[in-house]
Amino acid sequence: MELKNNVNNHLNKGFPFSVIFKNKSFIVADNEYPLGYTAFLTANCDFRFADKKVFEELYRLVESLINKFDRDVLLEYRDKLNEALSFFCKYELFILLGWDKKIGKKDKYFTSEMVDLYEDYNHILTSEPEMLDLERAEKLAYASIDYESLLGYGLYLCAANEAVDYYYSLVFHLTREIMKNNARTKHALASSYKAFLNDEVMKYVHDYTPSTLRSEITSVPIVTNSDGNNILVRKMFFSSLKDYLLTDLFEGLSAGHYIWQCKICDRYFLMKSAHKQIYCSEVNPKYGVPCSYVAKHPEITKEKMPSQKKSDSPYYLLWKKRADSIRKNKSLGKYDEIVSAKAKALIDEYFDRTKYDFEYAKNEYEKDMELKRVYERAMDIST
Ligand SMILES: [Zn+2]
Repeated sequence: MELKNNVNNHLNKGFPFSVIFKNKSFIVADNEYPLGYTAFLTANCDFRFADKKVFEELYRLVESLINKFDRDVLLEYRDKLNEALSFFCKYELFILLGWDKKIGKKDKYFTSEMVDLYEDYNHILTSEPEMLDLERAEKLAYASIDYESLLGYGLYLCAANEAVDYYYSLVFHLTREIMKNNARTKHALASSYKAFLNDEVMKYVHDYTPSTLRSEITSVPIVTNSDGNNILVRKMFFSSLKDYLLTDLFEGLSAGHYIWQCKICDRYFLMKSAHKQIYCSEVNPKYGVPCSYVAKHPEITKEKMPSQKKSDSPYYLLWKKRADSIRKNKSLGKYDEIVSAKAKALIDEYFDRTKYDFEYAKNEYEKDMELKRVYERAMDIST
């Protein structure tokens, strides 16, 4: 059946989108996120428990339009496409990818003039061949591509729904393996993935349906700017959501980023270093303070939690980085002893504040810790 084959061709070619992958982060829709961020978002969302009827209906409408053209069904299909997109956009994962901007974008393909052309095209498909004048033949040829692509898009959204469900279970089981092995270094993370693949079920999946763990990517090297310097990065083109999700997960793991489950609130958080933070730094809805604070204050929960070291604070790494830079700049003679001491005192003060001022830690700490800003303030104080 010609129409069905053409629609499937569109689905297989996908609806490509691009993401820039750097060493530790990726850039999509002009925003930068740490590698592994979409895996973290997926682990924490209730996507798989949501009512997914919209996708069954979307699939049914595509099938129905492939079998027989009907104007009313086509308009119902338009509404269902928008409904499916709105469903996705309840989740941050899809807002990050810019899917919220796609809602209503396809409506221009459903004008009555376009619907007339689709109807004529369907008529030609099911009737005896007839001679068309060149202009009309050309118009119908373009309309046929739009029509097939529109139907393919519905199937693409259905596949995206399945991809997130599948991805969630992959992230969940892999995280369980990582936590079981207390894997907190790049080597240990790689070993955990190996152990994960050795599981009987995963072994079968890996050997017999390798495509479930394979991403098809086209990658182009491009030059971008980072802190005033040119750097070479990869711009990757994906034709399916699944390919992108897998890439983010595995690029993240190989960069040493992994997901850990907070034992106090059960939510997942993204670790971007080999530090051993065991509680999240999000505000716990039950206690009104971050879980990392709850863990250190047994009077809150009336029970003592296993402790995490001071150096495992999520804000420690940035402090350490700045302290090293200040020391280095001092020994290179870039800044004198007085300014260096003031700069060090400032970053100590900022770090200390993260321990009790959670709003500050979340919203201002990183900005205050910008090295240029630290020196500017240090010199202000010194003069
Ligand atoms: Zn927590």
